[in-house]
Amino acid sequence: MLTATLGSIDVAVHNQAILGEAPIWDQQTQRLIWVDIIGKSIHFYDPATEEDRAVMVGPPVGSVAPRRSGGLVAATSEGISLLTPNGSLDPLVRMAFDTRRSRMNDGKCDALGRYWTGTMALDHVTPDSSLYKVDPELRVTTMLTGVVVSNGLGWSPDNSKLYYNDTIARYVEAFNFDLADGTIWNRRHLIDFSEGPGVPDGMAVDAEGCLWIAAWGGWCIRRYQPDGALDRIIELPVAKVTSCCFGGKDLSELYVTTSRHELAESDLARQPLAGSLFRFEPGVQGLPTGHFAG
Ligand code: CA
Repeated sequence: MLTATLGSIDVAVHNQAILGEAPIWDQQTQRLIWVDIIGKSIHFYDPATEEDRAVMVGPPVGSVAPRRSGGLVAATSEGISLLTPNGSLDPLVRMAFDTRRSRMNDGKCDALGRYWTGTMALDHVTPDSSLYKVDPELRVTTMLTGVVVSNGLGWSPDNSKLYYNDTIARYVEAFNFDLADGTIWNRRHLIDFSEGPGVPDGMAVDAEGCLWIAAWGGWCIRRYQPDGALDRIIELPVAKVTSCCFGGKDLSELYVTTSRHELAESDLARQPLAGSLFRFEPGVQGLPTGHFAG
């Protein structure tokens, strides 16, 4: 097993994001788009100019997705909204959940442009959150209930499996997936994170079908084989590693978001890069990111 340490990892954006999350590579504009959920902002990073532009939005944004017909949509407590040029959010579809108990968390589009997005319990304990699917006709289907913190999301290269992180339960799960009708079944545990380090947060799947899992509280990204065997650990200089995605030319770079949320001053002194966006070359290409077809 290989362990890479800092030195092969770049800081793409020095940032003090409170909760950097949900990175996604927009192949049309060749930019990385990511969010600061608690900072209520959407970031656009252009590696060609090394400029990172942040757009402040009203509600906390759990995730974003480029739209096939142009523009960008964001998943918030109000549902799926279109980001307007002036930074406001124009609702496309409403989703009803109790915002006193839950907030929108990670989300991603499948290869046919359906937006899968989940919620998380604000108390990190109560299992009353859900995973939703929003299809191109803007119908909302509840796919899972009883979730505490909905995270992860990734599909195998042949789209026969959906991967999902139940962060509090400390399992990476796999489902059978039917791309044509967007159904999932045969839920099972794939990776047991109970011994840590950290808990499974966001993920990306590479062209070899391996899973790159961000370890929140674990100071690393971990790569797993499709059968769940641990393959590699990439150490990072921050504890709260939130998510990752492939980007750059040929999708050959891995971008990693991080958080400084609820870190004490003494922690921040040890990890001054917490909240920054990292990048490294993992030696394998990723899969293209799905755009929202609605
Ligand atoms: Ca997350």
